[in-house]
Amino acid sequence: MKSEALLEVKNLKTWFYTRRGIVKAVNGVDFTLSRGECLCLVGESGCGKSVTALSLLRLFDSPPGKIVEGEIVYRSIDLVTCSLDKLRQIRGKDIAMVFQNAQSALNPIFTIGDQIIEQINTHLDLSHEQALEKARTLLDKMRIPEVDRALKQYPHQMSGGMKQRAMIAMSLSCDPCILIADEPTTAVDVTIRAQIMNILQELKRGREMSIIFITHDLSLVREIGDRAAVIYGGRVIEIAPVERIMNEPAHPYTRGLISCLPDVSSDATRLPSIEGNTPNPIDMPSGCPFHPRCNSVMDVCRSVLPEITNILDVHAVACHLYSGSGK
Ligand code: SF4
Repeated sequence: MKSEALLEVKNLKTWFYTRRGIVKAVNGVDFTLSRGECLCLVGESGCGKSVTALSLLRLFDSPPGKIVEGEIVYRSIDLVTCSLDKLRQIRGKDIAMVFQNAQSALNPIFTIGDQIIEQINTHLDLSHEQALEKARTLLDKMRIPEVDRALKQYPHQMSGGMKQRAMIAMSLSCDPCILIADEPTTAVDVTIRAQIMNILQELKRGREMSIIFITHDLSLVREIGDRAAVIYGGRVIEIAPVERIMNEPAHPYTRGLISCLPDVSSDATRLPSIEGNTPNPIDMPSGCPFHPRCNSVMDVCRSVLPEITNILDVHAVACHLYSGSGK
């Protein structure tokens, strides 16, 4: 894999100012994404992975949301501070997003063809015929049957799997170099899920596209990821190549997640789970946000937030077990 960093996220904090208090959904996320790499953002619901993805393109409602600190550097442009006009040029063209729920991401009053062509016309200088041909090719690549018919369909006339693939086609219409896929297989059945995973793998291999793949499902991480960043309490708490993280997880939370994977060789009738709940982002625990659930908790964990530290060149973890503070 090439190591050129295409995107660099530094100490990103996205907070939401609500009547109940400040929701610190993303609270100091750091990672880089290289060309042609698939980085998986992993964690339970509510850990901050989707807000991290939305923050990359400033796609959350503001107010109440605000990026209060940090940088998102794409080709020397800081996406946090650049103008909205600049960001609109980058959205969809350089960095595209596939959302969890195609039904709410697609516009119900325009046909799929019109929506893809509009996306193409916003960024590329093509005639209507050229844009239509491109839309046709994209839908065909997404293995949508009867492409000409599909182009004339409205989202409600398509099945969930077709809508999801149409949305991927739309997101690829301007040949982005980064694709952010937020749980793209959550709402589809296993057959469509396999098709979508194949499409993403082909994009990675064939086009050297960089992918940020957001999921709570570690089996998908194993299928597609090069590296995985585990997020908890709005921060990256462990980051490493997928093989390393799956075989030698260091953080107690990552170990817990991996132990929850189903084991077909086991006779156990119940799946293991991590005791307790994800922390309330309005009222984060002091110190390490995982300490109320951690079996290895030490005194220092209750008061001092562990910094992320390298335990190998390619493997970093935020836990006092590795920082020396607990010894
Ligand atoms: Fe557990 Fe302490 Fe490590 Fe947090 S810092 S994961 S509480 S050992």
